Amino acid sequence: MNPLTFPSRQIGDFQVTAVSDGNMSASLDLLSGIATEDAARIQHHAGIAEPGNIHINGYLIRGRGRTMLVDAGTGGLNNAGGQLKANLAAIGISHDEVDTVLLTHCHPDHIGGLLDAEKRPVFQHAELLLHHREADYWRDDEKLKIASERGQRNFGLARQTLDAYAQNVRFFSKDNITEGISPLWLPGHTPGHTGFRIDADEKSLLIWGDIVHYPHIQTAQPAVSILFDTDPALAEETRKKILAQAVREKLLIAGMHLGPAGFATVSRADTGYRLSCTAL
Ligand SMILES: [Zn+2]
Ligand SMILES: [Zn+2]
Repeated sequence: MNPLTFPSRQIGDFQVTAVSDGNMSASLDLLSGIATEDAARIQHHAGIAEPGNIHINGYLIRGRGRTMLVDAGTGGLNNAGGQLKANLAAIGISHDEVDTVLLTHCHPDHIGGLLDAEKRPVFQHAELLLHHREADYWRDDEKLKIASERGQRNFGLARQTLDAYAQNVRFFSKDNITEGISPLWLPGHTPGHTGFRIDADEKSLLIWGDIVHYPHIQTAQPAVSILFDTDPALAEETRKKILAQAVREKLLIAGMHLGPAGFATVSRADTGYRLSCTAL
């Protein structure tokens, strides 16, 4: 893919670009609430060539003198993704220029890119903003104790990352992050999972984090959850609520696992919803 073609949208004063981090190999078996063959059929109809793969985006937001990044990809952890930093450089953005990193949540495919191989901050001049419930969760020793082996590695990475950025970590308040950009708490996938709204006169964009991992499947059937959800029932409730809101408010959607097109709109279809990737 030619890096210069990364999809961008102008929302008021802000230009938002979906910067690919690459793919992680996953499996439709991670889903619950749907038979694997039905999930595969939906992927096939949506034209997805590798139905078990999950694509990863970070979003660059530029405008009003700010350079912000929403999530940072995997950093190459677990042999997945890891292309975000090079792709930022390819479109002329040095990691030193990023003044703010907004985190949707602390899973490794979102924070892995925040530390270099020596476990030092990659975005040295950036403030790291996240929901306080997210930090509380990953700092909770009781939650760590009951986590699976993979979960325990995730706790380790989240703690290491928050420690490395400790001087620059800030929690969302009720205020805007900056004029026109505000956090929206979307709990369930993780306790502090948060989206970001960018509102301008004529349109609004919602970067919805991990509301879906298999976008076509989980919009067609919003009750389908994925093994990564810390609270699948709440994740489902939040997904249904936000899908309805996306239709009602005609929101443009961006999401870390929406695919390389990076942006989509949502409409009602059958018993669920349909996601349409929007043209440039
Ligand atoms: Zn996640
Ligand atoms: Zn994710």
